[in-house]
Amino acid sequence: MVKPFVPQLVYIEPRALAYPLGQTLKQKFERMGIEIRETTSHNQIRNFPGNNDFQKYRNAKSTLVVGVRKTLDFQSSKPSAEYALPLATGCMGHCHYCYLQTTMGSKPYIRTYVNVDEILERADQYMAERAPEITRFEAACTSDIVGIDHLTHSLKKAIEFFGERDFGELRFVTKFAHVDHLLDARHNGRTRFRFSLNDEYVIKFFEAGTSRLIERIEAAKKVSDAGYPLGFIIAPIYIHDGWQESYRQLFETLHDQLPAKTAVPITFELIQHRFTVPAKRVIEKNYPNSKLVMDKDERRYKWGRYGIGKYIYKKEDEALLQETIEGYIHYYFPDAVVAYFT
Ligand code: SF4
Repeated sequence: MVKPFVPQLVYIEPRALAYPLGQTLKQKFERMGIEIRETTSHNQIRNFPGNNDFQKYRNAKSTLVVGVRKTLDFQSSKPSAEYALPLATGCMGHCHYCYLQTTMGSKPYIRTYVNVDEILERADQYMAERAPEITRFEAACTSDIVGIDHLTHSLKKAIEFFGERDFGELRFVTKFAHVDHLLDARHNGRTRFRFSLNDEYVIKFFEAGTSRLIERIEAAKKVSDAGYPLGFIIAPIYIHDGWQESYRQLFETLHDQLPAKTAVPITFELIQHRFTVPAKRVIEKNYPNSKLVMDKDERRYKWGRYGIGKYIYKKEDEALLQETIEGYIHYYFPDAVVAYFT
């Protein structure tokens, strides 16, 4: 069982201490006996302990930086939401395929922002611009926010904030099962709580440092019992020996464990495995013994934004993946909604 995240080292920006959450976190980490250092900027942390890149990378991922979010312009977050809600950046997990490895580059440490009220005020402005249309916010674009929220409770605050809004909805996804403190949040059905799931093979070989499948499913049950709209992201869907039976077992287990009826239909979002050339380089550096196969000859190239394309499965493999996974969903969860396959 993966224990709730505890940082090995904490950095705090002095101006973060002007916010109540900054003070609370400082006192909390002092009580926990964790080394605390000062930093002038949450973007400037360097010189992590370690004799080589490999050790430094691991130590950086165990480091939490408490800072103030300066940029209050939100990124877009298609296809699952209109905007990303920036509560934190970085993750303690070690998923080999994780896109944060490339997007965060030399800053793999975890940053949490204490100016949550200012971030939520900005969300209010975005909602006002689009009202009466609903604006959806995704809180897990740049981190696994649930994985650190037992320390900060920023996500809980955001859940209750959206619980009181008429024109906004919150969503996030997690691979962590540490959800107990979120169960009594006054969500009013306006937050969709999603879990990222995969078959046993992918979780075993590529998702180190995250909660195991059965733990995530147990957490999903609790979340469903707490009345949250529930969803699952199956990603990355990955072809390996025996994948069809292995994914079938995933849906069978899910079906056996979850309540037969949920208040709101369960949603499934389906994302096939993809990689970019820069991502492949970073993965091979950070996880040199990974079994993750990234063979361009077995994929097709899809042009992306900013001129950086990605390698996805060939048409016939893609069609088989979609048909197989959607077939299992229709069989085991006939009332569920498949939001997209990409
Ligand atoms: Fe990346 Fe999510 Fe894994 Fe964290 S849990 S390393 S955010 S894929």
